[in-house]
Amino acid sequence: MSQEVAVRNPYTGELDFSFTEPGPATLQRIGERLRGAQPDWAALDIGERAAVLNKFGACLQKHAADITAALVADTGRTQVAAMEVGGLQGFIRRTVQDAPQVLAPGMPRPAQVPLIHGAANRKPYGLVGNISPWNFPIILSFLDTFPALIAGNAVVIKPSEVTPRWTEPLKAAIADCPEIDAVLDIVVGTGKVGAMVTDMVDAIVFTGSVATGRMVAEAAARNFIPANLELGGKDPALVLASADIEYAARTITFSSVQSTGQACQSLERVYVAQEHYERFVELAVGHAESLAINYPDINHGVIGPFIFEQQAYKVKEQLDDAVSKGAKVLCGGEILDHGGLWMRPTVLTGVTHDMLVMQEETFGPVVPIMPFTDVDHAVELANDTQYGLSAAVFAGSDDEGRAVAARINAGAVSINDAALTAMIHEFEHDSFGYSGMGRSRAGASAYTRFTREQSVMTNVESKALLAGELGGG
Ligand code: NAD
Repeated sequence: MSQEVAVRNPYTGELDFSFTEPGPATLQRIGERLRGAQPDWAALDIGERAAVLNKFGACLQKHAADITAALVADTGRTQVAAMEVGGLQGFIRRTVQDAPQVLAPGMPRPAQVPLIHGAANRKPYGLVGNISPWNFPIILSFLDTFPALIAGNAVVIKPSEVTPRWTEPLKAAIADCPEIDAVLDIVVGTGKVGAMVTDMVDAIVFTGSVATGRMVAEAAARNFIPANLELGGKDPALVLASADIEYAARTITFSSVQSTGQACQSLERVYVAQEHYERFVELAVGHAESLAINYPDINHGVIGPFIFEQQAYKVKEQLDDAVSKGAKVLCGGEILDHGGLWMRPTVLTGVTHDMLVMQEETFGPVVPIMPFTDVDHAVELANDTQYGLSAAVFAGSDDEGRAVAARINAGAVSINDAALTAMIHEFEHDSFGYSGMGRSRAGASAYTRFTREQSVMTNVESKALLAGELGGG
Protein backbone atom coordinates (compact mmCIF):
# COMPACT_ATOMS: atom_id res chain seq x y z
CA MET A 1 0.00 0.00 0.00
CA SER A 2 1.32 3.46 -0.88
CA GLN A 3 2.04 5.86 1.96
CA GLU A 4 2.55 9.65 2.06
CA VAL A 5 5.79 10.76 3.79
CA ALA A 6 6.33 14.38 4.91
CA VAL A 7 9.84 15.83 4.54
CA ARG A 8 11.50 18.52 6.68
CA ASN A 9 13.42 21.40 5.11
CA PRO A 10 16.83 21.55 6.86
CA TYR A 11 17.17 25.34 6.43
CA THR A 12 13.72 26.39 7.67
CA GLY A 13 12.75 23.38 9.77
CA GLU A 14 9.36 23.30 8.01
CA LEU A 15 7.67 20.23 6.57
CA ASP A 16 7.35 21.65 3.06
CA PHE A 17 7.59 18.55 0.85
CA SER A 18 6.14 15.08 0.68
CA PHE A 19 6.39 11.97 -1.44
CA THR A 20 4.38 8.82 -1.89
CA GLU A 21 6.19 5.72 -0.81
CA PRO A 22 5.81 2.89 -3.33
CA GLY A 23 4.36 -0.43 -2.24
CA PRO A 24 5.61 -3.93 -3.15
CA ALA A 25 3.54 -4.15 -6.36
CA THR A 26 5.05 -0.91 -7.74
CA LEU A 27 8.54 -2.08 -6.87
CA GLN A 28 7.94 -5.41 -8.52
CA ARG A 29 6.79 -3.66 -11.71
CA ILE A 30 9.91 -1.47 -11.68
CA GLY A 31 12.14 -4.49 -11.16
CA GLU A 32 10.48 -6.42 -14.00
CA ARG A 33 10.75 -3.46 -16.37
CA LEU A 34 14.47 -2.95 -15.67
CA ARG A 35 15.23 -6.66 -15.84
CA GLY A 36 13.39 -6.85 -19.17
CA ALA A 37 15.58 -4.15 -20.71
CA GLN A 38 18.91 -5.20 -19.18
CA PRO A 39 19.91 -7.99 -21.64
CA ASP A 40 19.69 -5.62 -24.64
CA TRP A 41 21.71 -3.03 -22.73
CA ALA A 42 24.36 -5.64 -21.85
CA ALA A 43 24.45 -6.82 -25.47
CA LEU A 44 25.56 -3.37 -26.65
CA ASP A 45 29.24 -2.81 -27.27
CA ILE A 46 30.81 -0.99 -24.31
CA GLY A 47 31.57 1.93 -26.63
CA GLU A 48 27.85 2.20 -27.37
CA ARG A 49 27.01 2.20 -23.67
CA ALA A 50 29.65 4.93 -23.19
CA ALA A 51 28.00 6.99 -25.93
CA VAL A 52 24.63 6.66 -24.16
CA LEU A 53 26.18 7.82 -20.87
CA ASN A 54 27.60 10.86 -22.67
CA LYS A 55 24.15 11.59 -24.07
CA PHE A 56 22.69 11.25 -20.56
CA GLY A 57 25.36 13.71 -19.36
CA ALA A 58 23.94 16.30 -21.79
CA CYS A 59 20.39 15.61 -20.48
CA LEU A 60 21.62 16.12 -16.90
CA GLN A 61 23.22 19.39 -17.98
CA LYS A 62 19.92 20.57 -19.48
CA HIS A 63 18.17 20.02 -16.12
CA ALA A 64 21.14 21.05 -13.94
CA ALA A 65 19.57 24.30 -12.64
CA ASP A 66 16.38 22.52 -11.48
CA ILE A 67 18.32 19.63 -9.94
CA THR A 68 20.59 22.06 -8.09
CA ALA A 69 17.67 24.12 -6.77
CA ALA A 70 15.98 20.98 -5.44
CA LEU A 71 19.23 19.78 -3.86
CA VAL A 72 19.71 23.17 -2.16
CA ALA A 73 16.27 22.70 -0.57
CA ASP A 74 17.20 19.15 0.44
CA THR A 75 20.52 20.04 2.07
CA GLY A 76 20.38 23.75 3.02
CA ARG A 77 23.68 24.51 1.27
CA THR A 78 24.43 26.11 -2.10
CA GLN A 79 28.13 25.62 -2.96
CA VAL A 80 28.18 21.91 -2.15
CA ALA A 81 24.92 21.40 -4.05
CA ALA A 82 26.39 23.03 -7.17
CA MET A 83 29.52 20.91 -6.75
CA GLU A 84 27.45 17.72 -6.47
CA VAL A 85 25.47 18.42 -9.63
CA GLY A 86 28.52 19.64 -11.60
CA GLY A 87 30.44 16.57 -10.38
CA LEU A 88 28.12 14.23 -12.31
CA GLN A 89 29.79 15.33 -15.55
CA GLY A 90 33.21 14.41 -14.15
CA PHE A 91 31.90 10.99 -13.05
CA ILE A 92 30.63 10.30 -16.57
CA ARG A 93 33.90 11.47 -18.17
CA ARG A 94 35.90 9.18 -15.87
CA THR A 95 33.58 6.22 -16.44
CA VAL A 96 33.61 6.38 -20.25
CA GLN A 97 37.37 6.92 -20.26
CA ASP A 98 38.42 4.16 -17.82
CA ALA A 99 35.81 1.40 -18.02
CA PRO A 100 36.35 0.17 -21.62
CA GLN A 101 39.97 -0.66 -20.84
CA VAL A 102 39.28 -2.22 -17.43
CA LEU A 103 36.34 -4.31 -18.67
CA ALA A 104 37.88 -5.40 -22.00
CA PRO A 105 37.59 -9.19 -22.42
CA GLY A 106 40.87 -11.08 -21.98
CA MET A 107 42.64 -12.55 -25.02
CA PRO A 108 42.79 -16.39 -24.98
CA ARG A 109 46.15 -17.71 -23.74
CA PRO A 110 47.53 -21.21 -23.19
CA ALA A 111 47.01 -22.85 -19.79
CA GLN A 112 49.68 -24.99 -18.06
CA VAL A 113 48.21 -27.82 -20.12
CA PRO A 114 49.12 -26.27 -23.49
CA LEU A 115 46.28 -27.79 -25.51
CA ILE A 116 43.83 -25.78 -23.39
CA HIS A 117 43.50 -22.06 -24.07
CA GLY A 118 41.47 -19.90 -21.75
CA ALA A 119 40.19 -16.34 -21.31
CA ALA A 120 37.93 -14.55 -18.84
CA ASN A 121 34.71 -12.81 -19.78
CA ARG A 122 33.06 -10.32 -17.51
CA LYS A 123 29.31 -10.69 -17.16
CA PRO A 124 27.10 -8.12 -15.45
CA TYR A 125 24.99 -9.24 -12.51
CA GLY A 126 21.71 -8.06 -14.02
CA LEU A 127 19.88 -5.66 -11.71
CA VAL A 128 21.99 -3.69 -9.20
CA GLY A 129 20.45 -1.86 -6.23
CA ASN A 130 22.12 1.35 -5.03
CA ILE A 131 20.96 2.59 -1.61
CA SER A 132 22.32 6.00 -0.62
CA PRO A 133 22.38 8.35 2.42
CA TRP A 134 21.43 12.01 2.91
CA ASN A 135 24.83 13.66 3.36
CA PHE A 136 25.80 13.88 -0.36
CA PRO A 137 22.53 12.69 -1.90
CA ILE A 138 23.48 12.97 -5.57
CA ILE A 139 27.19 12.06 -5.49
CA LEU A 140 26.49 8.96 -3.43
CA SER A 141 23.60 7.92 -5.67
CA PHE A 142 25.68 8.13 -8.87
CA LEU A 143 29.29 7.40 -7.88
CA ASP A 144 28.55 3.66 -8.14
CA THR A 145 25.63 3.88 -10.59
CA PHE A 146 27.67 4.91 -13.65
CA PRO A 147 30.20 2.06 -13.20
CA ALA A 148 27.36 -0.45 -12.69
CA LEU A 149 25.60 0.81 -15.84
CA ILE A 150 28.64 0.79 -18.09
CA ALA A 151 29.38 -2.77 -16.93
CA GLY A 152 26.01 -3.74 -18.50
CA ASN A 153 23.71 -3.76 -15.47
CA ALA A 154 20.37 -2.10 -14.95
CA VAL A 155 20.27 -0.02 -11.73
CA VAL A 156 17.59 0.95 -9.26
CA ILE A 157 18.59 3.80 -6.91
CA LYS A 158 16.96 4.12 -3.47
CA PRO A 159 18.02 7.53 -2.11
CA SER A 160 17.53 8.70 1.45
CA GLU A 161 13.99 9.65 2.46
CA VAL A 162 15.56 12.65 4.28
CA THR A 163 16.61 14.32 0.98
CA PRO A 164 14.22 13.26 -1.81
CA ARG A 165 13.49 16.56 -3.65
CA TRP A 166 16.34 16.30 -6.20
CA THR A 167 14.96 13.04 -7.60
CA GLU A 168 12.04 14.74 -9.39
CA PRO A 169 14.12 16.95 -11.74
CA LEU A 170 16.65 14.16 -12.08
CA LYS A 171 13.92 11.82 -13.27
CA ALA A 172 13.07 14.43 -15.89
CA ALA A 173 16.68 14.18 -17.15
CA ILE A 174 16.39 10.37 -17.23
CA ALA A 175 13.13 10.63 -19.21
CA ASP A 176 14.96 12.74 -21.82
CA CYS A 177 17.33 9.84 -22.53
CA PRO A 178 15.22 6.78 -23.47
CA GLU A 179 18.20 4.36 -23.53
CA ILE A 180 18.99 5.27 -19.90
CA ASP A 181 15.31 5.41 -18.94
CA ALA A 182 15.06 1.74 -19.91
CA VAL A 183 17.75 0.61 -17.45
CA LEU A 184 17.78 3.18 -14.62
CA ASP A 185 15.09 4.09 -12.11
CA ILE A 186 14.93 5.95 -8.81
CA VAL A 187 12.51 4.86 -6.09
CA VAL A 188 12.08 7.26 -3.20
CA GLY A 189 11.16 5.64 0.07
CA THR A 190 12.06 4.91 3.67
CA GLY A 191 14.10 1.98 4.98
CA LYS A 192 11.15 -0.32 4.22
CA VAL A 193 11.63 0.36 0.53
CA GLY A 194 15.41 -0.08 0.93
CA ALA A 195 14.80 -3.54 2.39
CA MET A 196 12.48 -4.45 -0.51
CA VAL A 197 15.06 -3.20 -3.04
CA THR A 198 17.76 -5.33 -1.34
CA ASP A 199 15.51 -8.36 -1.71
CA MET A 200 14.76 -7.85 -5.40
CA VAL A 201 18.23 -7.21 -6.91
CA ASP A 202 21.18 -9.35 -8.02
CA ALA A 203 23.86 -7.21 -6.31
CA ILE A 204 23.63 -4.35 -3.86
CA VAL A 205 25.81 -1.33 -3.16
CA PHE A 206 24.95 0.49 0.04
CA THR A 207 26.30 3.73 1.51
CA GLY A 208 25.12 4.58 5.00
CA SER A 209 25.41 3.74 8.67
CA VAL A 210 26.90 0.62 10.24
CA ALA A 211 23.56 -0.37 11.78
CA THR A 212 21.70 -0.31 8.46
CA GLY A 213 24.69 -1.79 6.64
CA ARG A 214 24.48 -4.81 8.92
CA MET A 215 20.79 -5.32 7.98
CA VAL A 216 21.61 -5.00 4.28
CA ALA A 217 24.52 -7.48 4.61
CA GLU A 218 22.27 -9.98 6.42
CA ALA A 219 19.58 -9.74 3.73
CA ALA A 220 22.19 -10.04 0.98
CA ALA A 221 23.68 -13.11 2.65
CA ARG A 222 20.23 -14.73 2.78
CA ASN A 223 19.84 -14.16 -0.96
CA PHE A 224 23.49 -15.05 -1.82
CA ILE A 225 24.05 -11.72 -3.54
CA PRO A 226 27.19 -9.60 -3.14
CA ALA A 227 26.89 -6.60 -0.82
CA ASN A 228 29.31 -3.72 -1.21
CA LEU A 229 29.02 -1.66 1.94
CA GLU A 230 30.41 1.88 2.32
CA LEU A 231 29.83 2.75 5.98
CA GLY A 232 30.90 5.21 8.65
CA GLY A 233 34.28 6.34 9.89
CA LYS A 234 36.10 7.90 12.82
CA ASP A 235 39.06 9.16 10.83
CA PRO A 236 42.17 10.19 12.78
CA ALA A 237 44.67 12.91 11.85
CA LEU A 238 48.23 12.58 13.17
CA VAL A 239 50.35 15.73 13.37
CA LEU A 240 53.96 14.62 13.82
CA ALA A 241 56.61 16.76 15.48
CA SER A 242 58.21 17.47 12.08
CA ALA A 243 54.97 18.76 10.49
CA ASP A 244 54.21 22.29 9.33
CA ILE A 245 51.89 23.15 12.21
CA GLU A 246 50.12 26.13 10.65
CA TYR A 247 49.35 24.24 7.46
CA ALA A 248 48.23 21.15 9.42
CA ALA A 249 45.95 23.16 11.72
CA ARG A 250 44.27 24.94 8.79
CA THR A 251 43.83 21.78 6.69
CA ILE A 252 42.60 19.58 9.54
CA THR A 253 40.17 22.13 10.95
CA PHE A 254 38.62 22.70 7.55
CA SER A 255 38.38 18.98 6.82
CA SER A 256 36.69 18.33 10.17
CA VAL A 257 34.01 20.99 9.81
CA GLN A 258 33.38 21.38 6.08
CA SER A 259 29.91 20.21 5.05
CA THR A 260 29.15 20.62 8.78
CA GLY A 261 31.22 17.47 9.37
CA GLN A 262 28.54 15.45 7.58
CA ALA A 263 31.05 13.52 5.49
CA CYS A 264 32.17 9.94 6.06
CA GLN A 265 35.83 10.82 5.45
CA SER A 266 35.90 14.01 7.54
CA LEU A 267 38.62 14.04 10.21
CA GLU A 268 37.00 13.23 13.56
CA ARG A 269 40.01 12.79 15.91
CA VAL A 270 43.15 14.89 15.97
CA TYR A 271 46.39 13.74 17.64
CA VAL A 272 49.20 16.29 17.90
CA ALA A 273 52.84 15.87 19.01
CA GLN A 274 53.01 17.10 22.61
CA GLU A 275 55.47 19.92 21.86
CA HIS A 276 53.11 21.54 19.32
CA TYR A 277 49.84 20.84 21.10
CA GLU A 278 49.16 24.30 22.58
CA ARG A 279 50.09 26.15 19.40
CA PHE A 280 48.00 23.77 17.31
CA VAL A 281 44.95 24.27 19.54
CA GLU A 282 45.33 28.06 19.34
CA LEU A 283 45.55 27.92 15.52
CA ALA A 284 42.60 25.49 15.24
CA VAL A 285 40.39 27.79 17.34
CA GLY A 286 41.37 30.75 15.14
CA HIS A 287 40.45 28.85 11.96
CA ALA A 288 37.26 27.47 13.46
CA GLU A 289 36.09 30.94 14.50
CA SER A 290 36.75 32.30 11.01
CA LEU A 291 34.25 29.88 9.41
CA ALA A 292 30.71 31.29 9.49
CA ILE A 293 27.36 29.51 9.33
CA ASN A 294 25.23 30.13 6.22
CA TYR A 295 22.44 31.84 8.17
CA PRO A 296 20.70 34.27 7.64
CA ASP A 297 22.08 34.30 4.06
CA ILE A 298 22.27 30.83 2.55
CA ASN A 299 24.85 32.08 0.02
CA HIS A 300 27.30 33.31 2.64
CA GLY A 301 29.10 31.17 5.19
CA VAL A 302 30.49 27.69 4.68
CA ILE A 303 28.77 25.86 7.56
CA GLY A 304 25.32 24.68 6.54
CA PRO A 305 22.54 23.42 8.82
CA PHE A 306 22.31 19.83 10.02
CA ILE A 307 20.54 18.06 7.17
CA PHE A 308 19.01 15.43 9.45
CA GLU A 309 17.46 16.97 12.58
CA GLN A 310 18.31 14.04 14.90
CA GLN A 311 21.99 14.35 13.92
CA ALA A 312 22.22 17.71 15.74
CA TYR A 313 21.04 16.13 18.99
CA LYS A 314 23.40 13.17 18.56
CA VAL A 315 26.35 15.57 18.21
CA LYS A 316 25.18 17.53 21.26
CA GLU A 317 24.87 14.31 23.26
CA GLN A 318 28.49 13.44 22.42
CA LEU A 319 29.64 16.93 23.47
CA ASP A 320 27.69 16.74 26.76
CA ASP A 321 29.19 13.30 27.45
CA ALA A 322 32.70 14.66 26.77
CA VAL A 323 32.19 17.73 29.00
CA SER A 324 30.79 15.57 31.82
CA LYS A 325 34.03 13.56 31.66
CA GLY A 326 36.33 16.60 31.74
CA ALA A 327 36.59 17.92 28.16
CA LYS A 328 36.59 21.68 27.40
CA VAL A 329 34.67 23.29 24.55
CA LEU A 330 36.89 26.17 23.34
CA CYS A 331 34.48 27.46 20.66
CA GLY A 332 31.10 26.50 19.17
CA GLY A 333 29.32 23.59 20.83
CA GLU A 334 25.78 24.97 20.99
CA ILE A 335 22.85 24.10 18.75
CA LEU A 336 21.62 27.31 17.12
CA ASP A 337 17.91 27.01 16.36
CA HIS A 338 16.78 29.25 13.48
CA GLY A 339 14.09 26.82 12.35
CA GLY A 340 16.91 24.77 10.85
CA LEU A 341 19.62 23.73 13.32
CA TRP A 342 23.25 24.87 13.08
CA MET A 343 26.41 24.44 15.13
CA ARG A 344 29.45 26.67 14.75
CA PRO A 345 32.79 24.86 14.28
CA THR A 346 33.59 23.36 17.66
CA VAL A 347 37.07 22.75 19.08
CA LEU A 348 37.32 20.36 21.99
CA THR A 349 40.33 19.69 24.26
CA GLY A 350 40.89 17.52 27.32
CA VAL A 351 39.42 14.55 25.45
CA THR A 352 40.11 10.88 26.25
CA HIS A 353 39.21 7.60 24.59
CA ASP A 354 36.49 6.80 27.13
CA MET A 355 34.37 9.61 25.61
CA LEU A 356 31.75 8.94 22.91
CA VAL A 357 33.23 11.77 20.82
CA MET A 358 36.47 9.77 20.44
CA GLN A 359 34.78 6.41 19.80
CA GLU A 360 31.53 6.90 17.88
CA GLU A 361 31.09 8.60 14.54
CA THR A 362 30.17 12.26 15.26
CA PHE A 363 29.10 13.50 11.80
CA GLY A 364 29.15 17.10 13.03
CA PRO A 365 31.51 20.13 12.91
CA VAL A 366 33.66 19.01 15.83
CA VAL A 367 37.48 18.99 16.14
CA PRO A 368 38.57 17.04 19.25
CA ILE A 369 42.32 17.45 19.85
CA MET A 370 44.56 15.24 22.00
CA PRO A 371 48.35 15.29 22.53
CA PHE A 372 50.63 12.26 22.01
CA THR A 373 54.05 11.55 23.46
CA ASP A 374 55.77 9.71 20.58
CA VAL A 375 54.92 8.09 17.23
CA ASP A 376 54.14 4.70 18.80
CA HIS A 377 51.63 6.42 21.08
CA ALA A 378 50.10 8.27 18.11
CA VAL A 379 49.68 5.05 16.09
CA GLU A 380 48.19 3.26 19.09
CA LEU A 381 45.60 6.04 19.54
CA ALA A 382 44.79 6.16 15.81
CA ASN A 383 44.19 2.39 15.72
CA ASP A 384 42.05 2.36 18.87
CA THR A 385 38.77 2.31 16.92
CA GLN A 386 36.31 -0.14 15.42
CA TYR A 387 36.38 1.86 12.16
CA GLY A 388 39.01 1.99 9.42
CA LEU A 389 37.78 4.21 6.61
CA SER A 390 40.65 6.66 6.16
CA ALA A 391 43.22 8.76 8.02
CA ALA A 392 45.66 11.64 7.56
CA VAL A 393 49.30 12.06 8.55
CA PHE A 394 51.07 15.43 8.62
CA ALA A 395 54.86 15.05 8.54
CA GLY A 396 58.00 16.98 7.62
CA SER A 397 58.86 14.50 4.86
CA ASP A 398 56.86 12.21 2.56
CA ASP A 399 58.97 9.21 3.64
CA GLU A 400 58.24 9.80 7.32
CA GLY A 401 54.53 10.24 6.54
CA ARG A 402 54.43 7.05 4.46
CA ALA A 403 56.21 5.03 7.19
CA VAL A 404 53.58 6.08 9.74
CA ALA A 405 50.73 5.56 7.24
CA ALA A 406 51.78 1.93 6.78
CA ARG A 407 51.12 1.33 10.50
CA ILE A 408 47.56 2.72 10.46
CA ASN A 409 44.61 0.36 10.10
CA ALA A 410 42.57 2.25 7.53
CA GLY A 411 41.85 1.80 3.85
CA ALA A 412 43.22 5.16 2.71
CA VAL A 413 45.75 7.55 4.23
CA SER A 414 46.30 11.11 3.02
CA ILE A 415 49.76 12.51 3.68
CA ASN A 416 50.03 16.26 4.24
CA ASP A 417 46.42 16.60 3.12
CA ALA A 418 42.99 15.39 4.19
CA ALA A 419 40.20 13.24 2.75
CA LEU A 420 41.91 12.78 -0.61
CA THR A 421 39.63 9.84 -1.43
CA ALA A 422 36.85 12.37 -2.00
CA MET A 423 38.74 13.72 -5.02
CA ILE A 424 41.16 11.03 -6.17
CA HIS A 425 39.55 7.92 -7.58
CA GLU A 426 42.26 5.90 -9.29
CA PHE A 427 43.77 4.16 -6.25
CA GLU A 428 41.89 1.21 -4.78
CA HIS A 429 41.07 1.38 -1.08
CA ASP A 430 39.25 -1.16 1.03
CA SER A 431 37.27 -0.24 4.11
CA PHE A 432 38.77 -1.74 7.26
CA GLY A 433 36.78 -2.85 10.29
CA TYR A 434 33.22 -1.55 10.58
CA SER A 435 33.77 1.00 7.80
CA GLY A 436 32.62 -1.39 5.14
CA MET A 437 32.79 -4.59 3.21
CA GLY A 438 33.27 -5.63 -0.40
CA ARG A 439 35.60 -4.43 -3.09
CA SER A 440 36.92 -0.87 -3.49
CA ARG A 441 34.70 1.76 -5.11
CA ALA A 442 37.86 3.40 -6.52
CA GLY A 443 40.36 2.13 -9.10
CA ALA A 444 39.69 -0.75 -11.48
CA SER A 445 37.43 -2.57 -9.03
CA ALA A 446 34.97 0.35 -9.25
CA TYR A 447 33.93 -1.37 -12.51
CA THR A 448 34.91 -5.01 -12.05
CA ARG A 449 32.90 -5.31 -8.83
CA PHE A 450 29.73 -4.99 -10.89
CA THR A 451 30.64 -8.02 -12.99
CA ARG A 452 31.19 -11.75 -12.46
CA GLU A 453 34.13 -13.44 -14.12
CA GLN A 454 33.41 -16.31 -16.44
CA SER A 455 36.34 -18.33 -17.72
CA VAL A 456 36.01 -19.81 -21.18
CA MET A 457 38.43 -22.70 -21.85
CA THR A 458 38.91 -24.26 -25.26
CA ASN A 459 40.58 -27.53 -26.14
CA VAL A 460 42.44 -26.26 -29.20
CA GLU A 461 43.60 -29.77 -30.14
CA SER A 462 40.18 -31.44 -29.98
CA LYS A 463 39.88 -32.03 -33.74
CA ALA A 464 43.30 -33.68 -33.82
CA LEU A 465 42.37 -35.79 -30.77
CA LEU A 466 39.17 -36.98 -32.43
CA ALA A 467 41.07 -37.87 -35.58
CA GLY A 468 43.45 -39.96 -33.42
CA GLU A 469 46.39 -37.91 -34.65
CA LEU A 470 47.80 -37.21 -31.19
CA GLY A 471 49.78 -39.83 -29.32
CA GLY A 472 48.10 -41.62 -26.39
CA GLY A 473 44.59 -40.84 -27.81
P1 NAD B 1 21.32 5.25 7.12
O1 NAD B 1 22.00 3.94 7.30
O2 NAD B 1 20.38 5.70 8.16
O3 NAD B 1 20.49 5.25 5.76
C1 NAD B 1 21.11 4.98 4.52
C2 NAD B 1 20.06 4.48 3.53
O4 NAD B 1 19.61 3.20 3.95
C3 NAD B 1 18.82 5.35 3.41
O5 NAD B 1 18.47 5.45 2.05
C4 NAD B 1 17.77 4.56 4.19
O6 NAD B 1 16.45 4.78 3.78
C5 NAD B 1 18.19 3.14 3.85
N1 NAD B 1 17.71 2.09 4.76
C6 NAD B 1 17.25 2.21 6.05
N2 NAD B 1 16.91 0.99 6.53
C7 NAD B 1 17.14 0.09 5.54
C8 NAD B 1 17.02 -1.33 5.43
N3 NAD B 1 16.56 -2.08 6.43
N4 NAD B 1 17.38 -1.93 4.28
C9 NAD B 1 17.87 -1.22 3.25
N5 NAD B 1 18.01 0.14 3.29
C10 NAD B 1 17.65 0.79 4.42
O7 NAD B 1 22.49 6.30 6.87
P2 NAD B 1 22.35 7.88 6.79
O8 NAD B 1 22.09 8.41 8.16
O9 NAD B 1 21.44 8.24 5.67
O10 NAD B 1 23.82 8.30 6.33
C11 NAD B 1 24.86 8.63 7.19
C12 NAD B 1 25.84 7.49 7.27
O11 NAD B 1 26.37 7.19 5.98
C13 NAD B 1 27.04 7.82 8.14
O12 NAD B 1 27.34 6.74 8.98
C14 NAD B 1 28.16 8.00 7.13
O13 NAD B 1 29.46 7.76 7.62
C15 NAD B 1 27.78 7.01 6.08
N6 NAD B 1 28.45 7.33 4.83
C16 NAD B 1 29.46 6.53 4.37
C17 NAD B 1 30.15 6.85 3.21
C18 NAD B 1 31.27 6.00 2.67
O14 NAD B 1 31.66 6.18 1.52
N7 NAD B 1 31.84 5.09 3.44
C19 NAD B 1 29.79 8.01 2.51
C20 NAD B 1 28.78 8.81 3.02
C21 NAD B 1 28.10 8.46 4.17
